[in-house]
Amino acid sequence: IFESVQPGVPDPMYNLKKRADSDLSPSKVDLGVGIYRNEQGAYQELQCVKEAKQVLAKIDLGHDYELTTGNPGFLKEASGIMFCQGGLASVQTISGSGAVHLAALFISRCISPYIKVFVGVPTWGNYKPALDLVGLQTIEYRHYDPSTRSYDHDSTILAIKEAPEGSAFIFQGCCHNPTGADPTPEQWSEIVDALKVGRHLPLFDLAYQGLGQGLDEDAYAVSLCARRRLEFLACQSLSKNFALYGERCGSLHVICKDSRAAANVHDQLRCLIRWEMSSTPAYGSRLVKLVLQDGHMNADWKAELSAMRERLASLRLQLFEQLTRILYTPGDWSHIVQEKGLFS
Ligand code: PLP
Repeated sequence: IFESVQPGVPDPMYNLKKRADSDLSPSKVDLGVGIYRNEQGAYQELQCVKEAKQVLAKIDLGHDYELTTGNPGFLKEASGIMFCQGGLASVQTISGSGAVHLAALFISRCISPYIKVFVGVPTWGNYKPALDLVGLQTIEYRHYDPSTRSYDHDSTILAIKEAPEGSAFIFQGCCHNPTGADPTPEQWSEIVDALKVGRHLPLFDLAYQGLGQGLDEDAYAVSLCARRRLEFLACQSLSKNFALYGERCGSLHVICKDSRAAANVHDQLRCLIRWEMSSTPAYGSRLVKLVLQDGHMNADWKAELSAMRERLASLRLQLFEQLTRILYTPGDWSHIVQEKGLFS
């Protein structure tokens, strides 16, 4: 039966990670995956998470199932760091990747399998496979202009204007992977206006909130859409800003016109989660909920996140200065300090 199975499509990131792990050089630096590393080039657990683990150990909640749709306290807190408003259908997901998958599945099953999904390239390598998996068609446009080494606003606006009415558009809300090039607030405003005219459906992916310019600044595009009363989906990962990568903690928020639509959307998401995985992992969301609900741990989290963000900006500056003032490398390297987040 299994002899006919062919090998899967190679994943460059998977292969690069395996090669990096097996490289014995003591001075190796893994620049592949979107993970924050400390001065020693190692993973670093947040102090606030360490504290929440101790609190959780004392309460000892055991390992019962979560509700199909996730931990309600976590979802309330998690949606609060993205935007504060009602009309929301929020469910827990297997981190940001699971949120993107669930969003795609929901669009394909509950909106239309024929909806065209526009993605600016280059981009995170998982969008197209996630859309393919649920039978949605991906259409690419240029997110980045290599000649100016910056975000390509004209191409984005043109793609939105020329797309068939009611298309879907995936946007990374901040810290674009892999270019680090994000639209400015003014450009977001034009994007949102154009989306509204075309009656398009925005799908935001916020995987690096807090690592660009600040928690609120990085959620600018998402909150702008909410303020302008667009209906949209927002995928949220807590992997990076809580350093909870392996706990697979995330959520999908669907912002609806009214509470009746939100209730129905929530009910459809409940079905999709139930049929696919029954419920989501409990531990990471319990930790995030504890940190966000506790005044002291919440303040510590914001301080630790600011320290990570400031260090990333300082590393960019150091790299820029090495290339220009110390090595006199030909060319213009200013994009390195203009970009945000982990990527360049
Ligand atoms: N979206 C983007 C743009 C990413 O870069 C990543 C991870 O690297 C994710 C989503 C998903 O991350 P996770 O599934 O760990 O939350």
